[in-house]
Amino acid sequence: MRITAAVVHERSGTFQIEKVDLCDPRDDELLVEVVTSGMCATDLHGRDGYYNTPYPAVFGHEGAGIVRATGKAVTQFKPGDHVIMCYPWCGECPNCRSHRQTYCVHAFDLKMRGTRADGSILHAQNGKPIYSAFFQQSSFGNFTIANERYAVRVRNDVPLAHVCALACGGQTGAGAVLNVMKPKPGESFVVFGVGAVGLSALMAAKICGCDPIIAVDLHHHRLKLARELGATHAINHSGSASIVADIKEITGLGARYSLETSAVALVLREAIGALMPAGMCVLLGSAPAGTEVSFEIPFLQNGRTVRGVIQGDSVPQQFIPQLVDHIVAGRFPVGRLITYYDFAEINRAAAESAAGKTIKPVLRMPH
Ligand SMILES: [Zn+2]
Ligand SMILES: [Zn+2]
Repeated sequence: MRITAAVVHERSGTFQIEKVDLCDPRDDELLVEVVTSGMCATDLHGRDGYYNTPYPAVFGHEGAGIVRATGKAVTQFKPGDHVIMCYPWCGECPNCRSHRQTYCVHAFDLKMRGTRADGSILHAQNGKPIYSAFFQQSSFGNFTIANERYAVRVRNDVPLAHVCALACGGQTGAGAVLNVMKPKPGESFVVFGVGAVGLSALMAAKICGCDPIIAVDLHHHRLKLARELGATHAINHSGSASIVADIKEITGLGARYSLETSAVALVLREAIGALMPAGMCVLLGSAPAGTEVSFEIPFLQNGRTVRGVIQGDSVPQQFIPQLVDHIVAGRFPVGRLITYYDFAEINRAAAESAAGKTIKPVLRMPH
C-alpha cells in the first residue's frame, strides 16, 4: 500500500515527508495504522549514521497505533486493537531463552540493519528499496508493519500519545527502578539527567515511596519539572562544587540507588561515588566504544553494585500494561513530559529535542 513516511536519504540528512510503498503483512505480522510516535535520541543517532543503517532509511521506534489487518497466523491481535510497538529480540539465543531478551545477542542487527530478521525489505520507493524495520517497526510513517512478537495490546481508554512514550524511554527509565532496583519505601534515590528516561525513573521511584528523591541536571526547566513530578531535592550540576558532597549532605551515608542517564564518564563516576555501602548504581546512557571510568576496588568491594540496563529489563507484554495502569491511576503522568508536533514538523522536533528544549517529542501522524 502507499503510505506517508519520513525518509532520510543520506547520513545526517533531514527527514523528508514522502510517499513510499509498504509491503503486505506476513502470516505473523500486523498492519498498524500509526497514530503517534515518540522520538528518542536513538532515532537521531540512526539518522546520523551511528549504527550504519543503510540509506535511504525510515526511523522511529516508539510507535503506537491501531491494528488494521493481521497475518493469518496471528492469534493475539485483531483489527481495532490499540497497540504499542516495542524493541525486537530473536527468541532463540541463550539470553532470549532465559528471559533476558533485552540482552538478545542479535538485538543490534534486529534494531539497526534496516530489514526483517531474514534480510527482506518492507518499504520501497519507485521500485528501489528503503531500509526500514528500525527496531522492527520504523514508526515514522502513518502505517507500518509490526511482528506480533514485539507488539503489546493496550487498553483503549488511554491516549495513544501517552502510550507511545513508554515504548523505549518510558520503559527504560521506569523498568530500571521497578524491575531492577526494586527500592523499598523510604530508601534514597538519585537520578543524574532528567530527560524522558530520567523523569520516567523518577516517577517510578515515587511510586515505590523512595525518600529522598534527588534530581541532578544542567537545565533549570527540567529540574523544575522534576520537582513537580516528585523530586524532593533538585541540584543544578553547573552550580555545584561537589555533587557527591551535596548528595551525602542530603542522604547522610550516600544514596541507596543512583541512576545515570547521560553516559558522560565524569557523571557516571559521581553516580558511583554517591552510593552508600551496598548501594546500587544503574547506567542507562550509551557512550561511544572506548569510553572508560575508574573507581577504587574497596569501594566496589563494600557491597556496591554497578550495572548497565537496557530497556528496563522489561518483558513488554507484562510490564507495559502495568505502566499503562499507573498512567490511568495518575501515578505515572507521562503526558507532562510530552511536546506534540505534527508529522510535517519532524525536523523541528528533532532540533528542539537535541537542544534539550523538548523532553519527549511526540509526532502526530497524518491520516
Ligand atoms: Zn535473542
Ligand atoms: Zn529509544
